[in-house]
Parts: sequence; C-alpha cells; structure tokens
Amino acid sequence: MNAQALSAGFFKNFIARPGGAQPFSRESIEKMPRTAGARVFRSVCPYCGVGCGQLIHVREGKIVHIEGDPESPINRGTLCPKGAATYQYVVNPARLTRCLYRRPYSDHWEEVSLDWAMDQIARRIKETRDATFVDRLPDGRVVNHCLAIASLGGATLEVEENYLIKKLLNGGLGILSIENQARI
Ligand code: SF4
Repeated sequence: MNAQALSAGFFKNFIARPGGAQPFSRESIEKMPRTAGARVFRSVCPYCGVGCGQLIHVREGKIVHIEGDPESPINRGTLCPKGAATYQYVVNPARLTRCLYRRPYSDHWEEVSLDWAMDQIARRIKETRDATFVDRLPDGRVVNHCLAIASLGGATLEVEENYLIKKLLNGGLGILSIENQARI
C-alpha cells in the first residue's frame, strides 16, 4: 500500500468531535454491545425465595444476555453469583443433553434413553420403598416413613422444582432425608 492510500485509509477513520477529530480503528467503530437490537423482558431469578428481578435480553428468539434489574426494589440491579450466572445455565454448549449411566462396577459412562432412565428410577424407588416403608414403630406410633431413600438437590434447582421434590418425596413417599446443597 502506498503512502497516499495508507493516509486515506487512516483519515477515513477519523470522527469529528467538538474538541477536534479523534482517530478510531474500523473495529472500534463497528463494535456493538452484545445487547444491541435485543428486546428486553422483565423476569425473576428462578433460584431462591429472595426473588431478585432480572432483565432478559432476547434477539432473534435467542437469549443473549441476563442481568439484574435496576428497577427491582428487591435487588436494585444486583445479583448474587448464582443469579449472575443464569445466562451460563441457560445457554451453554457444555450442558449435558443425554442421559448417561454407569453400571455397577463399570469404569465408564454409557448413553441410555430417557425412557430407560426414568423407568429405572421409578422401578428402584418403588422396590426400595416397598421393602423398607414403616407405618408404625414398635411402640405403636404412626410414622409412615421410608428411611432407605435420600434426595440431594443442587443449587440450580428452581423454586418450583424444590417445591415438587418436597411434595412428592416427603409428603407423597414418606422420604425424610431431603437436602439441598444451596445455602442462602
Ligand atoms: S439466587 Fe441470588 S440472584 Fe437469584 S433470587 Fe436468590 S439471591 Fe437473588
């Protein structure tokens, strides 16, 4: 490129400002925020009872960004680390989308169908509960519990999922050992 062409390209990227022309690279001029052109929907963080407000940015039917809602009286735009990572849970190429199963004594995971996995879970829960359910203690007190099954939830279980787990496992099946790793 000769000096004249180089100079023309250079000055093309100058932008007139009140204080004088400022140089910008083409990349700087063409850069846009990732939320540019997105529609914003007001929502609530799904993870705990605090109920922080979130803004969901959607472009062409896809979520492109999630952040705290500055107008929410609950969180005033802030989110805890879990709520701030909501986007990564929703849009993540590393998310497992298939059921994996490791057989007893196996050293590897194998892919199984969702139907097979659901059938196994239902079958094993029923067998275990049928074999261990206690309706009365030796002294006659009614307990209706099953101590042979436990449930451990994760931080990204939603409020509704935790409600259903408690209702089904505790109220429905008599399982007492129900825990969740989240501590808020
Ligand atoms: S998980 Fe965090 S961001 Fe979400 S509602 Fe609870 S405190 Fe707020």
